[in-house]
Amino acid sequence: MIDAHCHLSRDAFDDDAHAVHARALRAGVTGMIDAGTTAKRFKHQLALAEALPGLSLCHGLHPYFLDDHVLDDTRGIDGPTHDGKPHDDVVRLEQALDRGERRVVGVGECGLDRRLERFDAQWTLLEPQLRLAKARCLPVVLHCIGMNDELSKRLKQLDLPARGLVHAFSGSWQQAVRFLDLGYVLGVGGAMTHDGAHRLHRIVRALPADCYVLETDSPDMAPQGITERNEPANLARVLAAAAVLRGESEAAIVAATSNTVRRVFGV
Ligand SMILES: [Zn+2]
Repeated sequence: MIDAHCHLSRDAFDDDAHAVHARALRAGVTGMIDAGTTAKRFKHQLALAEALPGLSLCHGLHPYFLDDHVLDDTRGIDGPTHDGKPHDDVVRLEQALDRGERRVVGVGECGLDRRLERFDAQWTLLEPQLRLAKARCLPVVLHCIGMNDELSKRLKQLDLPARGLVHAFSGSWQQAVRFLDLGYVLGVGGAMTHDGAHRLHRIVRALPADCYVLETDSPDMAPQGITERNEPANLARVLAAAAVLRGESEAAIVAATSNTVRRVFGV
């Protein structure tokens, strides 16, 4: 099975990424896609992907780290001021996409999060990344909390050729359908394993087999019953929950979701 969205390159795994990766392989997770968060981790992402079999990566600037990103003043972000040197993180993102070449399978994680407010800054960060995904014909990996209507509207306008993944989808059925109609797939993970996630359970039951992928979002979004750091080996729990909800065999779900990851990301 493939963990379509994790963060092995986050500092939570700095001490033991290789051991975590080995545990994932033993649990049957043969493919993983590491999603980017900040420019200062891009080189580390590439080094990990070169060292660890089955690990692909996306480079992107995550809205959660809004204060860490350095954007040129002319882009209008209300973030940190810099020293005037040309180290705009969007430029660094472009350079990282060039450097990573075939190991880079998408642009992201990027997106919008209602909890963070500062919406102008979030859009200023997101917009050039969507345009990069379009220019490079790469799929985009989207983080979207409470902004599904706004994001789907913009995606429709931009018409990105390679579409992408709305990871850890957390909206309504109508919002899910809007993304699917635009050609995007949804990521389902730890949230689905929680007993109280009734709306998400209904969505997972109803999704067409080729419209979603499995993910852990490690080190975050641990499945129910796990209190420590989440890791890709826990994808087995996500798979088990999906099989129960959908009344399908785990093998059928692995086959369908792996095909979908290959279709979207080419891995
Ligand atoms: Zn993530």
